[in-house]
Amino acid sequence: MSFADLGLSDELLRAITDAGYTEPTAVQAAAITPVLMNRDLIAIAQTGTGKTASFVLPMIDILAHGRSRARMPRSLILEPTRELAAQVAENFEKYGKYHKLSMALLIGGVNMGEQVAALEKGVDVLIATPGRLMDLFGRGKILLTGCSLLVIDEADRMLDMGFIPDIEEICTKLPATRQTLLFSATMPAPIKKLADRFLSNPKQIEVERTGSTSLLIEQALVATTSRGKRATLRELLKADDVRTAIIFANRKTTVRDLAQSLAKDGFKAGEIHGDMDQSSRIRELERFKSGDINILVASDVAARGLDIKGVSHVINYDAPWHPDDYVHRIGRTGRAGASGKAFTLVTEEDAENIANIEKLTKQTIPRIAGGKTAVAAEPADAVAQPVEAALDEPRAPRRRGSERTRPERAKTERVATAPRDRRDAPVSRPAVHAPALAEPSEPIAADADAAWNGPVPAFLSARIAE
Ligand code: AMP
Repeated sequence: MSFADLGLSDELLRAITDAGYTEPTAVQAAAITPVLMNRDLIAIAQTGTGKTASFVLPMIDILAHGRSRARMPRSLILEPTRELAAQVAENFEKYGKYHKLSMALLIGGVNMGEQVAALEKGVDVLIATPGRLMDLFGRGKILLTGCSLLVIDEADRMLDMGFIPDIEEICTKLPATRQTLLFSATMPAPIKKLADRFLSNPKQIEVERTGSTSLLIEQALVATTSRGKRATLRELLKADDVRTAIIFANRKTTVRDLAQSLAKDGFKAGEIHGDMDQSSRIRELERFKSGDINILVASDVAARGLDIKGVSHVINYDAPWHPDDYVHRIGRTGRAGASGKAFTLVTEEDAENIANIEKLTKQTIPRIAGGKTAVAAEPADAVAQPVEAALDEPRAPRRRGSERTRPERAKTERVATAPRDRRDAPVSRPAVHAPALAEPSEPIAADADAAWNGPVPAFLSARIAE
């Protein structure tokens, strides 16, 4: 199928060609035509599937005719983080270059005055995080009665971040006759309830989740111990051909401590997590993008938004608590056709998390039996064994935050993602040998990473397309 088959305008087809895309992705092929026909939509699809264009493209054509009025946006896109909101805005710029649509971005951490000024002029597309939208709504700066199209993106992440009550309230402010599109990587019960309440006879599509770990990403589990983690990490960074790496940790305190200790040891390392203010986060990201630093230690929520080209390695310093996060994290490498490596440090305690990851991704991730780290610290088998043994007998999944369930399959059109689904291909084992260094284990923080609104490019703070 080509983009021309989907019913998009010539202007859009030209912008798509300019962007270098020749074929719609599975979610685009399934979603664009029903959206153009004003259907409500539930799409079970995660980032990396091309889902953003699947709503941005038809929205541009739907909004091409008609006029915006002061304070009354014609459409609204809700995003959980600033970073995602900014990426959606970039998509509108890219695909809307031959249209004259106006757009405003309402996100926390940037000047509210400019955002209000943009709204006053009237916008066709309003992209917002729920918190800032509710704030401005409460101040009487926005009227949602003229908003005929609503997109709720990353609904399950919204749930995790506690935004569902805000979204419900926002939904009640929009006209009942609006068109609503809901995107979510998973379909837990509260999201299903939200959809039942606020969507009308939606078309349902589901993009295969299995394609989400790409053949281009060489994965491995590196057996270690809590005390040996830092040493194992250092040896990985030295031994493998690490050009640029994002290292994920589960807690903000770990991110901070790790970045500092790596920098002290001469690594060009920076950090990005929810306790940093907006400008520090942007600065750190820019340093990473420019090559000033080549290691970025990141908190978990950052995994969703970061779209940085050429990241050679993702290292999970901590195995993620939720299997979806594993897929998102490792997807920061192997992007745009480039290859990448994803290592996950695993201790005995991680067996359950790893079992859940392997169940979700339907693959067995190759193990490295701790290399010299393990050999020097304890007999290699003694380290490798507990991980393997525990995997034979997975325990019940541990839930974090809101309950998640496997995607609902009833009444859902399943969409194949053929080129991306290459999980059966062999994955070679990288050679990793790390000497043992006894280091204190990580301090345990009371809180996990809270809602982090990722960095946003300054030029996107608020704008009106001319
Ligand atoms: P998303 O899932 O929206 O975050 O998109 C993931 C990546 O796929 C982005 O870098 C897009 O630019 C890219 N992309 C979107 N549509 C296509 C397409 N039809 N062909 C190739 N790449 C695409």
